[in-house]
Amino acid sequence: MSLRPYLLSLAFALVVCFGDGLAQADDSSLVSAEQSRLDQMLLLSEHDNQAALKQLQNFYSTLTTKSDYLIRIDTMNALVDAYWDAGNEVAYEAMRRAIVQLAQSQNDHESLALIELKTAYDLRDQGRFEQAMAALDRIAAAVAYTTFPERRMRVETAYGALYSAMSQFERALEHHLAAYRLSEQARHHAAIYKLRRLATLSGLYLTMQNPEQSLLMSEEALKLEALSHSPRVLAQIRQNQAMALSDLERYRESLAAYEASLHAAQEANIPKMEALILSNIADLHLRTHQFEKAESVSRLSLLKAQQVGDKSAINNAKANIGFGLGGQGKIPQAMEYLREVIQVSRDSGDKADLELTVGEVGRMFERAKMYKEAIVYAREQLALRNEIFRSGRTKTVALLQEQFDTDQRKKQFELLGRENQIKNVKLKNNRLQAWVISLGALVSIMVGIFIYMLYLRVKQTNIRLAEMNDQLEFHSVRDALTGLFNRRSFLEMMKHRATAVVHDRRADDSSNPDCLMLLDIDHFKHINDTWGHTAGDVVLVEIAKRLRAAVRDSDMSMRWGGEEFLIYSPKTHVEHLLPMVERILAAIGSSPVLVGPNAIPVTASAGFISLPFADVPEEICNWEKALQLADLALYLGKVHGRNRAYGLMSLSVPYIEALPELEHDFAEAIKKEMVDVQVILGPHQAH
Ligand code: GH3
Ligand code: MG
Ligand code: MG
Repeated sequence: MSLRPYLLSLAFALVVCFGDGLAQADDSSLVSAEQSRLDQMLLLSEHDNQAALKQLQNFYSTLTTKSDYLIRIDTMNALVDAYWDAGNEVAYEAMRRAIVQLAQSQNDHESLALIELKTAYDLRDQGRFEQAMAALDRIAAAVAYTTFPERRMRVETAYGALYSAMSQFERALEHHLAAYRLSEQARHHAAIYKLRRLATLSGLYLTMQNPEQSLLMSEEALKLEALSHSPRVLAQIRQNQAMALSDLERYRESLAAYEASLHAAQEANIPKMEALILSNIADLHLRTHQFEKAESVSRLSLLKAQQVGDKSAINNAKANIGFGLGGQGKIPQAMEYLREVIQVSRDSGDKADLELTVGEVGRMFERAKMYKEAIVYAREQLALRNEIFRSGRTKTVALLQEQFDTDQRKKQFELLGRENQIKNVKLKNNRLQAWVISLGALVSIMVGIFIYMLYLRVKQTNIRLAEMNDQLEFHSVRDALTGLFNRRSFLEMMKHRATAVVHDRRADDSSNPDCLMLLDIDHFKHINDTWGHTAGDVVLVEIAKRLRAAVRDSDMSMRWGGEEFLIYSPKTHVEHLLPMVERILAAIGSSPVLVGPNAIPVTASAGFISLPFADVPEEICNWEKALQLADLALYLGKVHGRNRAYGLMSLSVPYIEALPELEHDFAEAIKKEMVDVQVILGPHQAH
């Protein structure tokens, strides 16, 4: 019925986006007492914004020009967020200016660029999409080479929000997914960032009118939330969940989710959020025609909104009070509120918002059987809609209204029909009648065209959705940094193997087993420490490339963890196995990795094993056990000087005897020669 929740969810997303300026101190610096205090306050802000704000203010007053720059700028960024959440616009602006001043004095271009994110969001809210895009492009360029993934994450999130406002949902989804991947790389607070990104994605699906998908995302997020308790994000997730449930007409569950959301916002001590959630609860009551409840909840929401001085929330609350009163048949009281709301919409020039409100008022009169008034508002709504239709913002409104409109058209006709009847009796004036009929015809033609265009749009959106689902699937099996398969894709494959194994084993398989080779880069911490984390990333990408080139097309190279890789080489004859291992070590270590002007020498150690191992059935030694053994072999490679691979070839005693010993004391089992071990040296070593 009403579209208010969608608009609210956009406003709400803004609250969440700004919260992303959390701690970004460099982890290579020693964690000072100040840093850990700041971290604690940032975590507190997830629980209790007001308390965190007080502590931050105190802490800030103890900092001097001699304090560490990163601590100062992080504290100020945290204060900006806290002021925003508290609705204190004056302090918010003042702190932003202070950040600009400090960042300028330190030539900190990244912080200077990021402070402009707010400008981009503002431009988006004013519908000035091109300027918003230009602003974001400038910010993105400034942080393109940052060493803080969370900074790029904030920019990607802003792109997503902008494209969503432009109704370019596939683009929006792309950017939100990129932000989600970056959140996983954040060095601090990754869990909370990740949660927020999931909340944003579920919000995007709501805007795309895909409540089922939105609900799935929210449920995913709720599972994660249980691990890193954050009432602040919980409030957002529960709110998205409630909206999706309400869209699916599961009103009772929706109300429960809203109540959980409200509870979380109270716990996080963010009255601004409380006002928004109360407003949405009121809207739900309006939807279910519980007008008294709607009125009383809206009054609470008005109090909260006035408390934080949030103008748009005040206006929303007044609209809902009006509709609540109207539903109870108290039309004059209702109009006291609604006239004011309509005036605010007129003054702001936001035609889309005005159209929604006017439409609702029309329906209120219709329910009260005051058809004359109803038709006045219905006509104004139609005029506004035509105006919007011609203006550039059509698409946004059209999409938001596609479901709503079928119902709306029916009502328009009923309304006009009823008015015709009244006029037939009362006015015998034929001219007037003719005028009404032609108006009806005109309206039906226009509405018909409108509906047809919406239909085309829905069809297009569905095609895009299918494409986006494919994309989601691609990202779920690939590692974001290197493009190799990720751990998850391997686990998935092994799940199928468990059943395939039984059918697929042939007689010649024992000389052609599969091979697992686990690699770990040597002294990688040293590489990061010497050349920087970004250079470390470049090394990982290059190693991935070399691995891919060194193995057969049918082999699978994966990023197993941070700087660990796994090669899965199916049906590899023992004769080919050792040359392959040698080839892989050579590919990694023969020539240094070039990063800018630096040549970084890289080697790796590895452990390898065949699967099934030494003809032991996989029911007894499955791939997980085999991989554990390969890991132990890798460890042997590390302790014996690195840049080498240790392979477990065959058993010289029965497995029943060997297994307990291997698991209990691997080195000892090797020493006792229970296993035949092959050592392959990497490049540049005397054989
Ligand atoms: P060793 O020879 O014993 O393996 O020494 P090492 O220094 O490589 O030790 P370890 O394998 O434990 O170190 C892994 C390091 O890799 C720690 C972590 O900071 C770094 N790392 C993990 N993932 C990434 C990444 O995505 N990018 C970068 N640049 N570094 C990473
Ligand atoms: Mg490692
Ligand atoms: Mg390592």
